[in-house]
Amino acid sequence: MMIVMRSNATETEIETIISRIESFHLNAHISKGIERTVIGVVGDGRPVQSSQFIHMPGVDRIVPISRPYKLASREFQPEDSSFPLDGVTIGGNEIVIMAGPCSVESREQLMETAHAVKEAGAHILRGGAYKPRTSPYSFQGLGLKGLELLAEAREETGLAVVTEVTSPELVPIVCDYADMLQIGARNMQNYVLLHEVGKSMKPVLLKRSFSAKVEDLLMAAEYILSHGNRKVVLCERGIRTFETATRNTTDINAIPVLKSLTHLPVVLDPSHSTGHWEYVTAVARAGVAVGADGLVVEVHNHPGEALSDGGQSLKPIRFAELVTQASAVAEAVGRKVAPSKALQEVAWN
Ligand code: PEP
Ligand code: MN
Repeated sequence: MMIVMRSNATETEIETIISRIESFHLNAHISKGIERTVIGVVGDGRPVQSSQFIHMPGVDRIVPISRPYKLASREFQPEDSSFPLDGVTIGGNEIVIMAGPCSVESREQLMETAHAVKEAGAHILRGGAYKPRTSPYSFQGLGLKGLELLAEAREETGLAVVTEVTSPELVPIVCDYADMLQIGARNMQNYVLLHEVGKSMKPVLLKRSFSAKVEDLLMAAEYILSHGNRKVVLCERGIRTFETATRNTTDINAIPVLKSLTHLPVVLDPSHSTGHWEYVTAVARAGVAVGADGLVVEVHNHPGEALSDGGQSLKPIRFAELVTQASAVAEAVGRKVAPSKALQEVAWN
């Protein structure tokens, strides 16, 4: 349930309510809206009595949250969530682009690709160091060496870094190197991992599993939010259907559906959702048109030589075209792509 405070409620009244919530071994989650503060009360499933709070000073009313995901719901927080990450805001009016190779393969590959995506307009560098591959015989990633290379690329380019964390034990080390933690599709329901990234308080890019309903994705986000980590970005990356012409089927509907159900930022990965580089730009345009707050795009300096997902990776020149086209679509729907890091540097110098 949520406790909606009066618009003139004082800080002391809010704090008194939080103490009372905690005295019942429940958790209080505060959402400070433009007009009033709302306190979400969540526990471990045992019933919470609204009568314990309704007469407390400053309380306007108590409203049950009808959705199974509480903190992720628009009922709890009507305003869009946003947070800054290294010079860009994720979840605001501006669209943020994350780009880079599927896997970090070598210094040369990463640096070349990182510089290229920066020049083309990317804001955040992506790249996997720990790769959860379908086959145990496929390239599994460089691990720690990959994280070190990502940190080096950040140092060189100034781009923030997002990379996947595949197990709870790896969360501290990935936190040391990355600006944002990626939870991959295969781990979307790895609840122990979700708890750990929740506790880390790092921004999280949570990818939808290929067999998850929109509600499952929101429940996975709830695990992270339940630790007070509000920096969660949801990523549509295609789902399994009977269609085999593409690797997955882009659930384009999921974007406006998610935007209506949750306040969390929603981004689209047109690379994994199509699986073929030829379709990536077209589907990226569609994502921006339907309201995505960002894109996650695989780019490789030599896709033909990639150790993973080369067939769906764009060459840098095509990625530059994607950014131009996404910018045009963004303007058509009253938004814009955030100024590129490269441009920001020119403005500062
Ligand atoms: C990736 O981003 O490289 C990746 C493995 O994606 P997904 O988890 O969506 O398959
Ligand atoms: Mn990939």
